[in-house]
Amino acid sequence: MQIIVAKNIGFCFGVEEAVKKTERLLKKGYKIFTDDDIVHNKIVMDKLKRLGLLLDRTGEIFLVRAHGLPKEKIKQISENFKIEDLTCKIVYNLFKKAEELENKGYKIIVFGKPEHPEMIALRSYAKNSIITLEPFSIEADKIAILSQTTMSEDEFRNFAEKILENSKYKEYLIEDTICNITILREKEAKEIAKQVDILYVVGGKHSSNTKKLARIASEFTDVMHIESEEEIDRIPKNVEKIGVVSGTSTPVEVVNKVVSRIKKLGGIQ
Ligand code: SF4
Repeated sequence: MQIIVAKNIGFCFGVEEAVKKTERLLKKGYKIFTDDDIVHNKIVMDKLKRLGLLLDRTGEIFLVRAHGLPKEKIKQISENFKIEDLTCKIVYNLFKKAEELENKGYKIIVFGKPEHPEMIALRSYAKNSIITLEPFSIEADKIAILSQTTMSEDEFRNFAEKILENSKYKEYLIEDTICNITILREKEAKEIAKQVDILYVVGGKHSSNTKKLARIASEFTDVMHIESEEEIDRIPKNVEKIGVVSGTSTPVEVVNKVVSRIKKLGGIQ
């Protein structure tokens, strides 16, 4: 059984920076807290909690997660606590781009999940933006179409094309605000999925970028979305090639353990 492991594995730099900074502050003894997972990975979150990360309002420094937070909320929290802003710079660029274009008179349309924290934060920068996964028709002088940073590039293009086909406007702009790292992972997952009999997609069950990889890859092969090597107790019959890819919130050590487990079950890299 041959194993094909993706080249692009481990944390993206946004998650890496957020996790490292959190660890540094905890090791220095600061009481830090946040409002949800710093990273959508149970193994990493359990480690941070063991180091002292709090998920209630009992600390002294509040961490803004890589997805960002509405401006007003940060301001409100800063009245009582110090703020350490871990918003990923790619995410922040999207917020600023949406704000800038709205100020220039564009109607902002964002391909994204309205309930996702990144999109909730974006609304505080572009208050009149429309955030949706469904194309629709609109009448406006100027429209600008942007994307949540972790969406599929192909799906964004389709979305933008349909909006332009069905809408009335004088001017339009399409800003591809998707993070390059997620684009690379998506491309690699597709390439590997086409070559293998089964693909293990390693990452948190709540991680939307990992779920997206699993969904895209499942168009080409059988997919197993797993969080750790413990979920692999046998390789299905008649499998000759096995692929391993991972989301941007999955540490490289977890991927390595998955590969080791497959090797123990007969895989050759
Ligand atoms: S996937 Fe990209 S946008 Fe999201 S945190 Fe990582 S580097 Fe930032």
